[in-house]
Amino acid sequence: MANPLRINTVELIRRQGNERMIDVTVPFEFFDVVDERIAPTEPVHVLLRVDSLNDGLVVNGTIGTSWHGSCRRCAIDLAGDLCAVVDERYQQHATDPDAIEFDGEQVDLVPMVRELILLEAPATPLCREDCRGLCPTCGTDLNTGSCECMAPPASPRWAALDQLKADLHD
Ligand SMILES: [Zn+2]
Ligand SMILES: [Zn+2]
Repeated sequence: MANPLRINTVELIRRQGNERMIDVTVPFEFFDVVDERIAPTEPVHVLLRVDSLNDGLVVNGTIGTSWHGSCRRCAIDLAGDLCAVVDERYQQHATDPDAIEFDGEQVDLVPMVRELILLEAPATPLCREDCRGLCPTCGTDLNTGSCECMAPPASPRWAALDQLKADLHD
C-alpha cells in the first residue's frame, strides 16, 4: 500500500499557518517492528495534526494500538493498550536540537511512529508487579500453588566449606 504517513511538504510550508490532519489506520506490519515483547493484534491508529511554522513543521497527536505478549515470569498471556503522544518538530535545516531534519519535498512519519511504538511497549510485561513466576525446577505456578523445590538444597560442597572454615579457625 502507499505510505499514508508520507506527507508532501511543498504546499504545507508555502505558508505559515497551513495545517493538515492525518487520521489513518495503518496495518502494524507497516512499521516493521520486530520485538518479542509485543505481538500486536490490531492496526495502528494514527491521528495527527501537522502545522506549518516559518521554519518547518510541527506534528502533534496520538498513536494508538494494542500489544499482546506474555508475563516475563509466569508466561501467562497478557494484552494491553498502547497509546503514545506525538509532539515532534521537523525542520529542513535543524536549528532545534530536538527537531528531525528532512530534505526534499516529503516527510515520512513512519520512523517516528515506529520509535514511539517501541518506546511505549512495556519493557518487562508482568501480570502483576509481584508475580512470583514459575518454579524453575518443576514449573509450578507459584502464584497459585507451591512446591517443595524451593527448600535450600543440602549441598555437600557447603558442608566441606564449613569444615574448611572451622579448620582455619583452629
Ligand atoms: Zn506473571
Ligand atoms: Zn518446584
